Amino acid sequence: MAESQNETTYWKSLNELAQNREYQKFVEREFPEDATEMTDQVSRRSFLRVMGASIALAGFASCRKPMQKVIPYTKQPEDLIIGVPNYYATSMPFQDTVTGLVVENNEGRPTKVEGNEAHPASGGRTSIYHQASVLEMYDPDRSRSPRLNGQKSDMAQFEAFAAEHFSDTGRSILVLSESNSSPTYRRLKDRFARRFRNSTWITYEAFGEYNVLEGSRIAFGSKLRPVMHFDKADRVVSFGDDFMNPAEHKNSVENAGKITARRKVRSTEDDMSRVYVIESNYSVTGGYADHRIRLKRSEIEAFMGAVAAALSGQLRGLSAYSGVQNAFTDHEWVQKITADLLENRSNSLLTAGRDLSPEAHATVAAMNAALGAIGTTVTYHRVPHLDDEAGSEGLKSATDAMRNGEYDTVVLVGGNPAFTAPSDLNFSEALRGAGTTIHLSNYVDETSRACSWHVNRAHYLESWGDGLSYTGIASVIQPQILPLFDGVSEIEFLHILTNGVKGNGHDLVKETWRSQVSAPFERSWEKVLHDGLSEGDGFPAANVRLTGNFQSSVSGFGQDKKLGMEIVIKADPKLFDGRFANIGWLMELPDPMTKITWDNVALMSPATARKLGIRDTRKFNSDAVPVVTITTETGSLDIPAWPEPGHADDSITLYTGYGRTQTGRVADGVGVNVYPLRTTEALDYQPGTVVNAGRTYDVACVQDHHSLEGRDMIRTATLDEYRKKPDFATYKSVHGYEVPGIKEAKAEGDDKGPISLFTETYGSDDQPQWGMAIDLNACFGCGVCTIACQAENNIPVIGKREVARRRIMHWIRTDRYYEGDEDNPTVYHQPVPCMHCELAPCEQVCPVAATVHSEDGMNQMTYNRCIGTRYCANNCPFKVRRFNFFNYAKEYLTTGDDPEIIQMAMNPDVTVRFRGVMEKCTYCVQRVNRAKSASRLATGSRKPVDGAVQTACQQACPANAISFGDLTDRQSKVAQDKMNERNYVMLEELNVRPRTSYLAKLTHPNG
Ligand code: SF4
Repeated sequence: MAESQNETTYWKSLNELAQNREYQKFVEREFPEDATEMTDQVSRRSFLRVMGASIALAGFASCRKPMQKVIPYTKQPEDLIIGVPNYYATSMPFQDTVTGLVVENNEGRPTKVEGNEAHPASGGRTSIYHQASVLEMYDPDRSRSPRLNGQKSDMAQFEAFAAEHFSDTGRSILVLSESNSSPTYRRLKDRFARRFRNSTWITYEAFGEYNVLEGSRIAFGSKLRPVMHFDKADRVVSFGDDFMNPAEHKNSVENAGKITARRKVRSTEDDMSRVYVIESNYSVTGGYADHRIRLKRSEIEAFMGAVAAALSGQLRGLSAYSGVQNAFTDHEWVQKITADLLENRSNSLLTAGRDLSPEAHATVAAMNAALGAIGTTVTYHRVPHLDDEAGSEGLKSATDAMRNGEYDTVVLVGGNPAFTAPSDLNFSEALRGAGTTIHLSNYVDETSRACSWHVNRAHYLESWGDGLSYTGIASVIQPQILPLFDGVSEIEFLHILTNGVKGNGHDLVKETWRSQVSAPFERSWEKVLHDGLSEGDGFPAANVRLTGNFQSSVSGFGQDKKLGMEIVIKADPKLFDGRFANIGWLMELPDPMTKITWDNVALMSPATARKLGIRDTRKFNSDAVPVVTITTETGSLDIPAWPEPGHADDSITLYTGYGRTQTGRVADGVGVNVYPLRTTEALDYQPGTVVNAGRTYDVACVQDHHSLEGRDMIRTATLDEYRKKPDFATYKSVHGYEVPGIKEAKAEGDDKGPISLFTETYGSDDQPQWGMAIDLNACFGCGVCTIACQAENNIPVIGKREVARRRIMHWIRTDRYYEGDEDNPTVYHQPVPCMHCELAPCEQVCPVAATVHSEDGMNQMTYNRCIGTRYCANNCPFKVRRFNFFNYAKEYLTTGDDPEIIQMAMNPDVTVRFRGVMEKCTYCVQRVNRAKSASRLATGSRKPVDGAVQTACQQACPANAISFGDLTDRQSKVAQDKMNERNYVMLEELNVRPRTSYLAKLTHPNG
C-alpha cells in the first residue's frame, strides 16, 4: 500500500532500480547536448528516406506556405458543408473478423476512425490497428498497379489475361487465401469451386486459430470457437492467453472492454474480478493481472495439467487428468488457483493462448465444462468459414503438391506466405516453380515478387465488402473514398477470376445481403448502411459435452518437458505478422512493455542475460546494446538482446514482422526477420542456443525518457486495503502529512490548494471548465490513446535516430512502472498527457506569452507566437511538451511522391505546426470548440451536455479509462471521478493544480 512509498517503490528500468551513476546523469540531462541541431547530412537523408507516409504528414504539417490549387465546387454535394465533417459506418477486417467503425470524412477524405458504439466487437472503442489504418491507406508505398513478371502492367491487361486463362475450367488450381468471413467472399468462393472442379482452396494464417478449433474438436467433437464473457467472470485464469493484445486475440477490443468493466470500482461496496496469468514473456494482459506466474513456454501446459489434476479430485469430467504428476503438482499457485476456482465454480473462466497445443485447448474446455462455466462465462460457437483453415501441416501438403507440379495455377488471395510460412517449406522457391502464379496484395511484397502476376489490392477504406465479427455479427464494409491507386478488393478479384471482369463491389455485396435482411429490402439495406451492421445475435451457442473418447485423446497431456534454453516466436504487438510494418505510427509507437521503438529484440530475463554474460543494464551515453547469436535446428540469426524484468528464465522471446527488405520506406531495413527460425514442427517454441555475438547495436528505447525521477506518480492499493482506508491515495496518506501550505490556505477560505503568488484559477461563474480523469485501474498500457492522438492532431513520426535523441513527438505517452524485484515485478501503466495546470508553470516563464490559459481552463499554445526558447518545457514538471526540431516540408514537397495524396490524410481542424515551435496536448480543443458551437446552435448554451465532447484518446481507449468533461457540472462523469476518494494529482506539493488527475490503481490479490 501507498503509506510508505519512497523513491524506489516504482521503477521504469533496471538502471533506475540500480540507481547507477549513468542513469542519474541521463535523467538529469533532459535535453542532450546534440538536441538542438541535426547537422550531419547523412543522418538527415537516412531519416527522410525511412519516413514514408508518416513523415510526409509531418512534412505537410510543417509547411509554412503550401502551394495548392483551390477548385471550388460548381455543384456542391447536397450533404456536404465545407468545414463540417461527415461520418459513415464501415468495418475493418482483420484476419477473419471485422470490427465496426465510424469514419470521419472531411470533404470526401477519410481522416480518422472511431469505434462504432452499436457494434459489439467495438462498443465505440478501437485498437492500434484500427487507428493506424488511415495512415495505411495513404501510404505512398502501397502498390499502384498490377505487375506481370515484375514489370508494370494495368488492370485491363490483368482482366484480359484472367478472361483467357480461366476460360479453361479444367485447370488444376490451388487457391491459398487469408482467412475471411465475408458472406460475399464465401458466395464467390463457392461459385469458384463449382466452376473449377479441379481446384483446391486452403486458408492459412501465420498466427491463426487452428489449435483453438482443433482443441474444441478434441473436447466436443466439432470445431468450435470459445467466446469469453469476462464481464460475467469473478475469476479468470489465463494460460498464456494475452487476450487484451490485438496481435494475440482477434476480439481484443471487446475483451478489454469487458474485463476492465468488471474491475471498475466506484466505492468500497464494489467488487472486482481476480485475474491470474501464467506466461513466459511479460504481456499487457499479464501486466493487468492480479497474479502473474512466470513460466517457460514449455512449462505452461504442465502447469495446466497440474491444475486439471487438482480439480479432478473435486469435479466430474476431469478423470483423464487424475494421474497427472509433474513438477507443478505441489506448486503453491496450483493449489491456490484450484481452491479459488472451486470456490467460484461457474463464475470462473479459463482460457488458453492460441499457440498452445490442441490438447491444451481441449483441457481448458474440459475444465470450463467441469466448473459449470460453459453457458455462463464462456460459450462455444460454430464458425463455418474457418472449416478450411489449415495448420502448418496443411500448408506443407499444399506446398509439396505445388512443388510436385500438381497445379498449373496458384492463386494467393492476400497474405504473404513467402515471408511468413514456416522456413522448412521454402515457400517462395516452390512458388517460383509453380507455373502461373497470381498474388493479390497491398504491397509488392516478398510473395508478389515470387509470382508471375501481382494484383494491387484496394484498402478496406476504399472498398465494398462485408464480414462477421468474432461473435458472428454481420457487418458491411463501405468505401470512404475511391481507390487511390485503382486497386481491387478481394471480392472484385474473385469476380475477375470467374468472370474476367472485376464487377461492381457494391452490387456484389448488395446481392449477398438480399437474402440476409428482412423485406422490404431497400429500406433494410439503407438501415444496414447507416448502422454498419445487421440486427442479429451472431453465431448461436452450441450445446456441448465431452466426447466419449476424450480421455484417450488427451492421454499424456501435462507431462514435464525439458528443453533447456528455449526460443519462443510470437506475433509483434504492433506489426503483427508483418502486415502493418510500413505504418510509421505503429513502428514508432513504443512497445507497451519494453518501450522500444523501431526494432525487435531478443527478450530474456535479467538472470538469463547475466548467465549468458550479457550485461543487464544499458549504457546511457549510447543506445548500444549487446547482440546475441541465436541458433536452432534450422538456422541462426543475430539480434539485439534485451533483459526484460519478469521474463521467464532460460527462455528467449522473438517478435515477427521485422527485417523487411522490399516492402516500403518505413519497413525496409528495420529489425531482424525471425521467421527463418519458425518451422512446421516448431511454429511456437523450440530449443536453441544463445551466445554473445561480441558486438553492439543501437536501440531506441524511450523507457527512461521524460523520467519523473522516482517521484510518487503511481498510487496503488489492494481492494482490501482500499476498503479499510478509502483515502489511501491522498497526499497525506502517501506522505504522512498535508500538502505544505494547505492549512493556511484553508484558513483563508481557499480549499483548492496552498496560497499561491498567482491567481489564475477560475471561479464557478466561468463555465464550462474542462478537466480529465484517468482510471489507472482500467488502463492496461495498450497505447491506443497515443495513436488516436497522433491521428487526430497531425503529429509527425520522427524516425529512430530522433527518438533516440529524446525528441519523440507523442502528446500522450504511457509510462510503464515496475514494482518489486527484477525477477518477478508487478507492472503499472500511467498515460501522461498535458496536465493543463490551473497555475501552469509553463505559462509563467514564456517570454512571449505563447502559452496561455483559456477562459475554460485549458493551457493553450499559440504557435504563431512561439519563438522556440523551450523555457516552458524546462519548467514543466510533467515533461509533456514536445519541440518541433525540424521543418521537413522542403525536402518532402520537392522529392516525395504524390504529396497531394499524403496531404489528404490531414485533419483540417488542427493547426499545422512548423519548425521551432513547442506543441503538446490541447485536450482536443478543436473537438471542444465544435461541441460548443453545436450546443450554442441547438440550445443557446455554451455548455455542451456531458459526453458531447470526447477527446481522441478518451474515445479510442478500449478500457474506457479516460473521462473528460465540464468540472462545473457536478453530474458529469469526470466531476464524479474527481470526487472519488481514489482521485489524486501528480506532484500536488508543487501547487500547479493539474486539471488532469488519476484514479489510483487497485489490485485484488488472492490472500
Ligand atoms: S488509457 Fe491509453 S494506454 Fe491506457 S488502456 Fe486506454 S488507450 Fe490504452
